[in-house]
Amino acid sequence: MNASNQPVEPAAVRAPSYYAASLNFESDYPTLQGSVSVDVAIIGGGFTGIATAVELAERGLKVAVVETHKVGWGASGRNGGQVTGSLSGDEAMRKQMRNTLGEEVDDFIWHLRWRGHEIIKRRVARYGIACDLKHGHLHTAMKTSHMYELQATYDEALRRGMGDDVTLLDAAGVRAQLGSDLYCGALKNTRNMHLHPLNLCLGEARAAEHLGALIFEHSEVLEIVHGPRPAVVTTGGRIEAKQVLLAGDVYHKLERRQLKGLIFPAMGGIVTTAPLGELAGEINPQDLAVYDCRFVLDYYRLTGDGRLLFGGGANYSGRDSRDIAGELRPCIERTFPQLKGVPIDFQWSCAMGIVMNRIPQLGKLSGNVWYCQGYSGHGVATSHIMGEIMAKAITGDLEQFDTFAACKHIKVPLGDQLGNPMLAAGMWYYQMLEKLR
Ligand SMILES: Cc1cc2nc3c(=O)[nH]c(=O)nc-3n(C[C@H](O)[C@H](O)[C@H](O)COP(=O)(O)OP(=O)(O)OC[C@H]3O[C@@H](n4cnc5c(N)ncnc54)[C@H](O)[C@@H]3O)c2cc1C
Repeated sequence: MNASNQPVEPAAVRAPSYYAASLNFESDYPTLQGSVSVDVAIIGGGFTGIATAVELAERGLKVAVVETHKVGWGASGRNGGQVTGSLSGDEAMRKQMRNTLGEEVDDFIWHLRWRGHEIIKRRVARYGIACDLKHGHLHTAMKTSHMYELQATYDEALRRGMGDDVTLLDAAGVRAQLGSDLYCGALKNTRNMHLHPLNLCLGEARAAEHLGALIFEHSEVLEIVHGPRPAVVTTGGRIEAKQVLLAGDVYHKLERRQLKGLIFPAMGGIVTTAPLGELAGEINPQDLAVYDCRFVLDYYRLTGDGRLLFGGGANYSGRDSRDIAGELRPCIERTFPQLKGVPIDFQWSCAMGIVMNRIPQLGKLSGNVWYCQGYSGHGVATSHIMGEIMAKAITGDLEQFDTFAACKHIKVPLGDQLGNPMLAAGMWYYQMLEKLR
């Protein structure tokens, strides 16, 4: 059901959202039954699993993706759709990777920042994926201290020759781009993008399928069998492979001995309004994606059919919120008073995987079983970057994989019980700091 209690079409088995109700096509892959043999078995049909499958299939490998629910069922099909140049854990990465990369670390991170954009643009063009892909972001400041942060990003962009893509705006400059008086400035970035993530994920799955990949839905992997020829096992079937990639992010309970305590769920809520008609052009005439500089931020954009899609806050208890529309309506009306009382047509929430130091976690569980997870709310571009890195690693080019795998992560003892309270405490601390900034 959506917030107006209208039935959600077309996918009864898909978690309800605006995205599920505006699919180009629904996936209908079979359940895994019997025995299958491939080069690489991938667990998880989100961006990480599907993007890696495309990369590997393009390199000529036989791949199978196994998904508990539907392709794009998890965060990949329910997120804000913002393709940002932020890797989330940049600063922690810079510190840790300096050990392996030395002076090259800054160039490495700068290159990675934009690699996901290139992969997504190339893939959308190559496979003709209709996903409302558009350019343009505003990173907005709500107080002067935020402007220092934006100024530093702007200066780096200029140093790196990206001056044509970025503009620093004052309050009047923002007002010319957005129908909101909330901001004292912003960084406009026309390299960043936004899109319909579920249509992208399904389009990529179809591309992988056309390249020969096998995809199975409604097939939960219950066990990974390690050995010279590893296998993934579901209730009804088994896939033997030369290599296995675990790409279930925060949604699986596999391999607890090694993975427990490394990644934690945070629930994010999103709503979409009814179509806004002419008001859409008044509040966001340039169709930009917007996100602010706070630790716990609001983010929004227009959908292809002129609704406001608005996300904000995050619940670090790991539990779902029941009244997302009730929580986000005041934020919408504070940003755009002209939308007071606007009908909310859809509301949903979803878990994202949070890593304590925010560095994506790449590693090996045994000689030929890999994992890749944890983009801490910045996964649209990052999952595509990691898909490329994992495909390179699985086919023998370990350079970038090794750089990530060498990063140290905090493993919270009694992770399932203590992880979320620790996250919640950490976020509370950062929100306190935020008030003092
Ligand atoms: C509300 C929200 C808003 C967000 N907004 C943005 C944004 O605007 N920009 C951005 O960059 N990032 C955003 N993110 C983060 C981004 O969506 C995620 O980082 C990214 O989609 C993670 O991709 P994934 O493939 O690793 O995981 P998922 O998309 O979660 O996919 C994992 C899949 O694995 C499957 N699975 C798990 N266990 C098993 C098993 N045992 N057997 C078979 N299958 C299994 C699950 O069913 C699931 O479909 C947001 C996240 C949320 C929740």
